[in-house]
Amino acid sequence: MFRLDGRIALVTGGSRGIGRSCCEALGAQGATVVVNYVKGEAAAREVADAIAAKGGKADLAGFDVADSKAVDASIGEVVSRHGKIDILIANAGIAIDGLLLRLKDEDLERLWAINVRGAIACARAASRTMMRARWGRIVFMSSVVGEMGNAGQTGYAATKAAVIGAAKSIAREYASRNVTANVVAPGYIDTDMTAGMTDAQKEQLMKVVPLGRTGTARDVAAACAYLCSEEAGYVTGQVLRVNGGMYM
Ligand code: NAP
Repeated sequence: MFRLDGRIALVTGGSRGIGRSCCEALGAQGATVVVNYVKGEAAAREVADAIAAKGGKADLAGFDVADSKAVDASIGEVVSRHGKIDILIANAGIAIDGLLLRLKDEDLERLWAINVRGAIACARAASRTMMRARWGRIVFMSSVVGEMGNAGQTGYAATKAAVIGAAKSIAREYASRNVTANVVAPGYIDTDMTAGMTDAQKEQLMKVVPLGRTGTARDVAAACAYLCSEEAGYVTGQVLRVNGGMYM
């Protein structure tokens, strides 16, 4: 079940954290994985090598998702190299935290440019080939805070709520072309993004996570791999929460 043989998958922000695990999961399921990164070329190459070492196929595509021209050009090159893109995991994202009164315009703009405009630009560019093929899977990476909010994360949470609206709209727009669009909303996952949390913050957090642990990137990747599969063909416009029960 859930095999992806013959599928071409692009994972933005595939060099580290959740994106890396998504690349590895899709590669293990048989997809050819295109690993996107912005700065971490060496890390992205490691991901591609790890997939190849297990008998899978992988390629690299370095571009900044916030640069729409680069997105269009790079996704065009991926399509020229591989003939199509069947799967997009729009995972690349940043967090800039801060209380509302200290939130700077430039931080809001940066958050929006990467987390929302970047994700939508990638979906726009990748979906052309999906529409032609009448098969596609788009997964946006949201967050538990996009649905429940969090003090000190107004800017970040707003971007993560925005991608839910984007995914639901695309789900309606592309349903007749057999292209699904869904959202994965992780809770607190152990990656570079959450590495700055203090033990006290983690202890506090565990009080509100029924499963009593932080999540792993593999927990999130498994949900993404399911949504990208043939078997998930009747699932669109949904938010799949991978949060240990923190928000239900
Ligand atoms: P991470 O470890 O910080 O990795 C971020 C990834 O995004 C890296 O691969 C990075 O590439 C890439 N990236 C950042 N800006 C980019 C840009 N402008 N263009 C292209 N790639 C870019 O983050 P993570 O924790 O894995 O998070 C991945 C996604 O899950 C994000 O959307 C995040 O908001 C979401 N999420 C995370 C958590 C969590 O607890 N960790 C919870 C909920 C949601 P480089 O290596 O090249 O810098």
